[in-house]
Amino acid sequence: DEPVLSVTTFEELNLHPDVQKGVYEMGFTRPSKIQAKALPLLLRPQNMIGQSQSGTGKTAAFVLTMLSRIDLNLKAPQALCLAPSRELARQIMVEARKMGKYTPVTTAEAIRDSSNNNRDRNTIFKEAQLIVGTPGTVLDLIKRHIIDKKNIKIFVLDEADNMLNQQGLGDQSIKVKNLMPKDCQIVLFSATYEDSVREFAGRFAPHANEFRLKIEEMSVKNIKQFYMDCTDEEHKLKVLSELYSILTIHQSIIFVERRDSADRIAKRMTDLGHKVIDLHGGLSTTERDEVMDGFRKGSAKVLISTNVIARGIDVMQVNLVINFDIPVKRNEDNKIVADPDTYLHRIGRTGRFGRKGIAINLVSDNYSWKNLRSIQEYFERDITQIKLDDWDHVE
Ligand code: ADP
Ligand code: MG
Repeated sequence: DEPVLSVTTFEELNLHPDVQKGVYEMGFTRPSKIQAKALPLLLRPQNMIGQSQSGTGKTAAFVLTMLSRIDLNLKAPQALCLAPSRELARQIMVEARKMGKYTPVTTAEAIRDSSNNNRDRNTIFKEAQLIVGTPGTVLDLIKRHIIDKKNIKIFVLDEADNMLNQQGLGDQSIKVKNLMPKDCQIVLFSATYEDSVREFAGRFAPHANEFRLKIEEMSVKNIKQFYMDCTDEEHKLKVLSELYSILTIHQSIIFVERRDSADRIAKRMTDLGHKVIDLHGGLSTTERDEVMDGFRKGSAKVLISTNVIARGIDVMQVNLVINFDIPVKRNEDNKIVADPDTYLHRIGRTGRFGRKGIAINLVSDNYSWKNLRSIQEYFERDITQIKLDDWDHVE
C-alpha cells in the first residue's frame, strides 16, 4: 500500500498558476484536512469516495480537480458535477466560477429554467467545459445531445450517498454515470454514507481511494446540540418567538418535514412579528432562486425550509439551526423511523469551517421523543435539554 499523500500548502499541489490565483481569490490560506489528503490523489487522477464532516471544504477539493483536468484547447464538456438540489448546484457553480475566475474555463449550469437556458443554450452547452447540474436535467440534456458526453474526464457526485440512494435521484445519477466514457474519473463526496450505500459506492467508483469517518467523528464539534421540551405546535412557535428575542442570531434556518408546514409556520411567525421567508420544492424555480439569493444577501434572518436545503448549503452567517420537526425517513420495512444522516446534514448548515453554531430540537410528543432518542443513540452522543431561562449560560 502506498502511503497517503498529504500536503500542507496549496502551492505544493502545483496547481496551474491561474487556478492557484483563484484559490487566493477565495481567501483560502491553507488547505483543510480533507483538501490536503484528497487533492494529491484526485489530481493524479484517481477515483475517490471521500467523507468528511459538513463545512470542511469538500467543494474546493473537487472543484479544483475539475478546473485542473480541463484541456483548455478543447471547447467541449470535460468536467461534470451533479448535486441533489438546484440550490446546491447553483452554489457549487458560484464557487467554481470564483475559483476559475483567472482561467478561461467556460461553464454552464444544467438546472431547470436556468438563465443560461434562454440564450442560445445549444451553443452554451456545446462549449461549456465545466458543467454543474441536477441529475434529471443533465440526463435530459445528454439524451438530447445538447451536452456531448464523449470528452468528459471527471464525473463528480456531491452529496453522493443521497445521489445514489434516494428514489429518482439515484436512478438518474446512475443513468448519467453509465453514459460517461469508460476511463472517466469518478469522484464521490459526502459527510455521510449509510452502509448499504457505501457498498454500492465501491462498485460505482472502482479502485477508489476512500476516506471514512467513524460514527463518533461525524458530528461537528463546534455545534452545540440541545433540545427543548414543548407541548404542541403553538407552544413550539411561542418558544421560537422567545428564542429569537433572547439569542444573538445572525441568521437561522428552521427545518420542517413538510411543505405545507413550512408555509404554515412561516405565516404564523410573520403574524408573531418576525421577518421570515420560506423555501421548498413546491415553489416555482424563480421563487426558489429569489428566496435563496435573498437569504444569502441577509434580507431575512430566518429561513424556514424542508430537507431540500438540508444538504450542502453554505451560508456562513447561519449560527442557529432549529429542527421544528425531527427528521424521519422510511426504512426497508416501509416504517417511519428517525433519520440520523439527515439530522447531521441539517445541523451542519451552521458551524461551517470551524465557526460556532447552535442546533435546537423541538420535541413535543412521544413520536418526536422517540426519534430524538434514536438519533442520540446512533451518534452515541447526548443532546442536552435547555430551557428558555438557561440561555444566558450558553452564549
Ligand atoms: P463541505 O462541502 O465540506 O460541507 P464547503 O465546501 O461548503 O464544505 O466549505 C465550507 C466553507 O468553508 C465554505 O464557505 C468555503 O468557502 C470555506 N472553505 C473551504 N476551504 C477552505 C480553506 N482551505 N480555507 C478557508 N475556507 C475554506
Ligand atoms: Mg458540500
